[in-house]
Amino acid sequence: MFGDLFEEDYSSVSNNQYGKGKTLKPKPLEPPAPREFTNLSGIRNRGGTCYLNSLLQTLHFTPEFREALFSLGPEELGSLEDKDKPHAKVRIIPLQLQRLFAQLLLLDQGAASTTDLTDSFGWTSNEEMRQHDVQELNRILFSALETSLVGTSGHDLINRLYHGTVVNQIVCKECKNISEKQEDFLDLTVAVKNVSSLEDALWNMYVEEEVFDCDNLYHCGTCDRLVRATKSAKLRKLPPFLTVSLLRFNFDFVKCERYKETSCYTFPLQINLKPFCEQSKLNDLDYVYDLFSVIIHKGGCYGGHYHVYIKDVDHLGNWQFQEPDKNLKALQNEKDVDDPLTVLKAVLLQEENNLTPVDQLGQKLLKKIGTSWNKKFKKQHGPLQKFLKLHSQTFLLSSDESMVTLQKKIFLQVESDFQSNEQQILQMLASKSPGLNDTTTCPHWFDINDSKVQPIKEEDIEQQFQGKESAYMLFYRKSQLQRPPEARANPRYRVPCHLLKEMDAANMELQMKRAECDSANNNVELHLHVGPRYHFFNGALHPVSSQTESMWDLTFDKRKTLGDLQQSIFQLLEFWEGDMVLSVAKRVPAGLHLYQTFDGNELTLCEVGIVDGEDIFVWNGVEVGGVQIPTGVDCEPLLLHVLHLETSGDSKRREQLVESPHVFPANAEVGTVLTALSVTEGVILTRSAQSSGGESWTAIPQKDMQRTFREHGLRDGSSVLVQDSYSDVNSLLTQEGKWITGTNEIDWLEVKNLCQLESEEKQVKISAAINTVVFDIRIKAIKELKLMKELVENSCLRPVDRNGKLLCPVPDNSTLKEAEVKLGSSLGLCLGKAPTSSQLFLFFTLETDVQHGTEMEVIVEETLSVRDCLKIMLEKSGLPGDAWHLRKMDWCCEAGEPLCEEDATLKELMICSGDTLLLTEGKFPPPGFLKVPIWWYQPQAPSGHREREDQPHGSSAQGVNWRAAPTQGVPGHMPAEVSLLFLGDIDISEDATLVDLKSQSVLIWHLLHAMFRGQGLAACL
Ligand SMILES: [Zn+2]
Repeated sequence: MFGDLFEEDYSSVSNNQYGKGKTLKPKPLEPPAPREFTNLSGIRNRGGTCYLNSLLQTLHFTPEFREALFSLGPEELGSLEDKDKPHAKVRIIPLQLQRLFAQLLLLDQGAASTTDLTDSFGWTSNEEMRQHDVQELNRILFSALETSLVGTSGHDLINRLYHGTVVNQIVCKECKNISEKQEDFLDLTVAVKNVSSLEDALWNMYVEEEVFDCDNLYHCGTCDRLVRATKSAKLRKLPPFLTVSLLRFNFDFVKCERYKETSCYTFPLQINLKPFCEQSKLNDLDYVYDLFSVIIHKGGCYGGHYHVYIKDVDHLGNWQFQEPDKNLKALQNEKDVDDPLTVLKAVLLQEENNLTPVDQLGQKLLKKIGTSWNKKFKKQHGPLQKFLKLHSQTFLLSSDESMVTLQKKIFLQVESDFQSNEQQILQMLASKSPGLNDTTTCPHWFDINDSKVQPIKEEDIEQQFQGKESAYMLFYRKSQLQRPPEARANPRYRVPCHLLKEMDAANMELQMKRAECDSANNNVELHLHVGPRYHFFNGALHPVSSQTESMWDLTFDKRKTLGDLQQSIFQLLEFWEGDMVLSVAKRVPAGLHLYQTFDGNELTLCEVGIVDGEDIFVWNGVEVGGVQIPTGVDCEPLLLHVLHLETSGDSKRREQLVESPHVFPANAEVGTVLTALSVTEGVILTRSAQSSGGESWTAIPQKDMQRTFREHGLRDGSSVLVQDSYSDVNSLLTQEGKWITGTNEIDWLEVKNLCQLESEEKQVKISAAINTVVFDIRIKAIKELKLMKELVENSCLRPVDRNGKLLCPVPDNSTLKEAEVKLGSSLGLCLGKAPTSSQLFLFFTLETDVQHGTEMEVIVEETLSVRDCLKIMLEKSGLPGDAWHLRKMDWCCEAGEPLCEEDATLKELMICSGDTLLLTEGKFPPPGFLKVPIWWYQPQAPSGHREREDQPHGSSAQGVNWRAAPTQGVPGHMPAEVSLLFLGDIDISEDATLVDLKSQSVLIWHLLHAMFRGQGLAACL
């Protein structure tokens, strides 16, 4: 049995003790994390969807919007289950929005997902999600929702809540005739540039008058001539919810680039709009609006991040700056301690998810009240488990009865008791501190940043007045809108019954999954080695018959105690009699060796240091099969190679070198080797396990023969050479040198069959050294994998990295060292020849579709030009056209500088094997030409809203579409209000004059103009 030991690889770290192929147990998929202490749900960012998340949270925290949507029942909207049925009228967008709101209100997860909702928009790719701006999205979403609600009682939902009107008036100074034009709006767009506050911007728009006189007269219809006149605008109808978009993004026509206006721009928490409105009989209070949401843009004008500050009008969240004191949930008084139901509820309420393993409940109860269930309640109430079952209206047991939780309604009831308690406390605090006299109006603001939700103070909003991170959209609500008291801190308020049920069921499932996951995360796999099934020989413990019969696998919760483990083992080993001792066992080359004994029955497995995969020896602590077992580090058995020159007959010439493995305790004297070989007198030479070469032998002086093996630095695998005193040292070493070659190597490589050809073996281990040539390994692998000889001509070896990705092939003629292949690593045997020394092996992929492991591969000559390389790659990827160029992927997996010099060779541009090139859309202009992006600029109207005259409500969504997709390097993200239209790129000679450029630009304008006219969009131009 020793023969095979050194074939094994001790250098590679492996948890796979005993080679039994212990597979990692599949852990249940981790359920989403529960809500944090704010008790509000964020929304996951799916890559550039932060603007969507910010807007959805704003709508969600507009209770009137949310409730109006909830009021539309399945009889009007249909039901999501029917969405695939033919002829079923299912209004998916409002249904998905309802569902998302219900999840945000009730589902106990840290962040909700918007996948179902964006699917309902028809957004299937990330690209579609990223191309929007939050201000556009607001309009797109409203327009989509309106369309979807046509024919239902919610058809006017958007109008009811967000629709307002502006009236433009021109007064003739001669006949006083007023000509009037009314405009609708769902949101107001206001200028930021050269304006210092929202009030100023509104003043410019709705208070200042424009005068027509001198050479700019107005044609009055009544007078039928040019007259002097004044033009003004006023807000006529105010919506309950006023949305204000700030024009933070502008275009600098001097520098010819887009920029973000970062100047200071203030806006009030409360605004009175009366000065900006037409005169009416309305109460003054009808003009007062409160800020309740601020969408913030952070970053520059070509990207960045959105998050939102929101006022939680209904106090749904927990607005505190530290975690609620758990003691508030503690037992109120002495009397409660006598009621087992109250005590157990209190124990469970302190647990995460109100959930605990049943067998830990007793312990926790003991901690809480200082006395055990058995002492205090058992006599009157029976065993704990039975009590839980009897009170099933309060406690919910998992199907295997190992876990217990509180029924949801109990949890909610206790929570609301707690909340009312909290309110009392808040009121108490308020009455004490004069500053906070009215807690009910104390605004609860949160910063909602994708999945993160944090409470903030109202004054924090001022930080968003200016800078790179600043307010971008403002949402005001009419102050007079009152919320019903029932809605306060009640997330279930007005949620339709079927969604309440769905969320309750989902919460229950989440709790169960978390419990499962929790126990799986705490389970350890133990290998129990049963003492009586072992015997001691050759200095170590070995199974009597087979490994499987002497070892039991046991899965155990590491939070349980050592005593619990012992009890379980007693139950497992029914035959056991007498004492049971559990000791740490370790597999060493000589066999099994024992170390310390586990101690402390009341300690948990964690505390005694038992880990997953631990080997535990179960015995009586003294002997195995009548043999006293040495334990501990000192007497670890060492497996040594003992080489002995045996002489046969009388002639010294007929010496024979014999190798045999021997086991010695590490603390034995070196001299015992002689005894083991029955040699009375001799010289001992030693060599450590690592070195491989005759020169490292050291002879042990006679005086050191009493020192131990360990003191001499011998370890498993070390060699000992025993030489009879009379034999010739040199001849011995020569022979030994021969013997050692090639047999003591424990290094290997793993070669996997990736040729897509059938073979008996999927992978083989090939022995190798650092100076082995790659070609030899390949030949051996083909032979051992029993593959066709023909493969020798057409295959290569490719290292497999940690993620399983195949790297570029290693050249046949290099050694492992040269090819930087580490011993013990994996190589894939693949079809196709390895590149020669003048060839490059390149990965390539579309820039817009960089996914690890899906790259295409190509072998090209290093003298190939960039142009030809591009051609080959386009051909291979089947991409149409020739408007492409190449970029090199940099070390952080992003597109680097373009390879501009199309005539340069790959070698000149220092492209190396293994590099990844990215196919990027857009062609370079020919040499001597420049690429000039052309934008068409419409002079801006003097006030913000007047621009909208050209874009009546309803066409703004279309307005998004006609903006041509910009190529790169050109401003990309324009709010629809900026009258700037990207016409295209012009390739023009460096020598061309400005006049040439102008004429070409006009030509391109005419072309586009002609194209769009047919679609009714000419008005935009
Ligand atoms: Zn007139």
